[in-house]
Amino acid sequence: MATTQFTKKTLGLETSEPAVTPPPPPTTATTFVKKPKLASKSRKREIPEGLWTKCPKCSTMVFDKELDENLKVCTQCQHHFPIGSRERIHSLVETCTFEEMDAGMTSVDPLNFVDRIPYITRIQEHQASTKLKDAVITGIGKINDQRVALGVMDFSFIAATLGSVVGEKLTRLIEKATEKELPLIIISTSGGARMQEGMLSLMQMAKTCGALAYHARAKLPYISVLTHPTTAGVMASYASVGDLIIAEPGAMIGFAGPRVIKDTTQAELPPGFQTAEFLLDHGLIDAIIPRKEMKERLTEYLSFMTVGRKPAPAA
Ligand SMILES: [Zn+2]
Repeated sequence: MATTQFTKKTLGLETSEPAVTPPPPPTTATTFVKKPKLASKSRKREIPEGLWTKCPKCSTMVFDKELDENLKVCTQCQHHFPIGSRERIHSLVETCTFEEMDAGMTSVDPLNFVDRIPYITRIQEHQASTKLKDAVITGIGKINDQRVALGVMDFSFIAATLGSVVGEKLTRLIEKATEKELPLIIISTSGGARMQEGMLSLMQMAKTCGALAYHARAKLPYISVLTHPTTAGVMASYASVGDLIIAEPGAMIGFAGPRVIKDTTQAELPPGFQTAEFLLDHGLIDAIIPRKEMKERLTEYLSFMTVGRKPAPAA
């Protein structure tokens, strides 16, 4: 027991201990203690939650309804907040034209993986909180007059990690687009591969790109839209092989995180590294498009890229 005490002392804990309990303030402080500060706290609690959101960029309090109407873009500084896949589809696709594919597909936890909690429990929790089955929604719909195959990822589902469901749903979408001679748009966001599915997750990179190669061979256009953040396995596969690669303003785009790169290369990273603006300057992406202009610009690109294409033969 004595040894433990000595170890504590050598760690320098002794010096920090007095600071934890500061000496009582002078006698005048007693009058202040009596002030009923609780009243102001309870008044704050009366403000209903979910009415206002603080913009992380300009610190403005934005009215939630206003934020929703502005497609989750700050009305003051144009900061792009994360947006759910269903909201995004709603903002792009004509009403009642979207036919979802493989809506019920869900992961079966092939490795019986357990990290902090069992993987299957993690999936169930995310399914309950997000009302999604996995991190991507795929389907065919109309953007203005253009019929397109559209895949939209959702970061709120396990950081939109690329697992076997995301890979399979996207591959089926790409194959459907090739079969129906449709242009393809994939709106990506991702924290990387889904480690809970190990190698099965990594092989989705090759599988999706294989399907994209057949789509490209049929001379069909593929537009990749990168949103904040698009990283790791997704960026290293289908997100970076679009005929046209566009991004939302301020989106973080990269493979490994900046800290890992800094530690590996032992070099200072340039300012703005891994942002959409930096990548546009360096030629990795073709354009940065604000969310509110996305629908019109996609329509323009699609009509340009499909001009002169003979209409699809009747089925
Ligand atoms: Zn703002």
